[in-house]
Amino acid sequence: METAHSPSPPDLSRCVRCGICKTLCPTYAEEPAEGMGARGRVALVKGLASGQISPSRLLNKHLYSCILCGACSGSCPLGIDVPETVYQGRSLLRDADVRRRVLRYLTRLSVAWPDAAYRLARMAQGTLWSFLARKGIIPEFPELQEVPFRKAEQVFKTHKKKRGRVAVFTGCSINYIFPDLGESLLNVLQKLNYEVVLPKGEVCCGNPLRSVGLEEQAVEQAKKNYRVFSRLKVDAILSLCPTCTHTLKHEYPKLIGKGLDKAMDISVFFLDKLEQVPRFDKTAVYHDPCHLQYMLGVTKEPREIIRKAGIDLIETADPGCCGFGGLYCMSNREMSSRFLAKRGADIMASKSDTVITSCPGCILTLGRSVKDRPVIHLIELIEDAYCIRADAQELLF
Ligand code: SF4
Ligand code: SF4
Repeated sequence: METAHSPSPPDLSRCVRCGICKTLCPTYAEEPAEGMGARGRVALVKGLASGQISPSRLLNKHLYSCILCGACSGSCPLGIDVPETVYQGRSLLRDADVRRRVLRYLTRLSVAWPDAAYRLARMAQGTLWSFLARKGIIPEFPELQEVPFRKAEQVFKTHKKKRGRVAVFTGCSINYIFPDLGESLLNVLQKLNYEVVLPKGEVCCGNPLRSVGLEEQAVEQAKKNYRVFSRLKVDAILSLCPTCTHTLKHEYPKLIGKGLDKAMDISVFFLDKLEQVPRFDKTAVYHDPCHLQYMLGVTKEPREIIRKAGIDLIETADPGCCGFGGLYCMSNREMSSRFLAKRGADIMASKSDTVITSCPGCILTLGRSVKDRPVIHLIELIEDAYCIRADAQELLF
């Protein structure tokens, strides 16, 4: 039986203001004011929680300017979890935060009725959606397909001797925006003789709710997903979105006291299962998604897979956040654009043939800046290298 569990706030009284977390913070690098950095945010949430500071526009700005990238996570010698502190601060600010009331309302509705939100988005994509995208208010989305990726409970059996069984956590971006990437993952898993289950009852991981201070609603999402995925007899729970993977694995224990330990990034799962196939005599930049590198500690595995496919990797001079940050790219457009301009210019200077990343959000965002070469998901490269699509060269390079 599940027990009620609310995330307990980190003990901020231990902060000795050493500033280590601040040195890693990209928003502080952009705007070197104390409230724009990790250390300042810890002090502000501490003041807010103790009643010494009252909600204000400036406080909102400082807590919402955090892109929740996680660059500061694990850096504190006293174990203070800064991103978790920011979530708690936003939750405390929620009722006083008038500016994001509409965003919070829409996020809540979209998470509660995702299929209805998807149908509305499809209806609006030729009109309102494209107008907002042209104005830079929302990212440009690929044309939304008639049906989402996940339909009902599906089990894809393998015709050969079964190598294992995995579950796919689809996530909203794959389900509604990039269903073709979900198909690629299924193809690769079946090629490797895995039985794949897409269980009925998956809901949004809850991260967008947390990002706008809706902690209780995120707890409900966590309970639902835990119930669905923890009962499955599988070797791994794979997702194409590092934010989902991190949330299932590391944030659920904070939200409901238990996480889905089998959640993992596809690169970690596939690395020792893919042979060397030097198919592509090309160059690529690998863009590290923040949550994959900082929260999940995965940087080597995708690079090794790319090299196995014969591609030369170019490391760029100024790697950093692309500015996506989930809802951040819509609610903090100015700061998000600054990140994107930097990262885009850095990638363009590399003269690589293609850009590979592991996050659907990074694909959406980088695609706005990097126009002269494809920006693809790692699963597309894996599919093309190992499942041999005839048009691979044109799609990838
Ligand atoms: S999560 Fe990122 S933006 Fe937020 S305080 Fe930490 S380093 Fe700064
Ligand atoms: S690293 Fe830890 S102790 Fe140092 S300023 Fe940041 S939160 Fe405080």
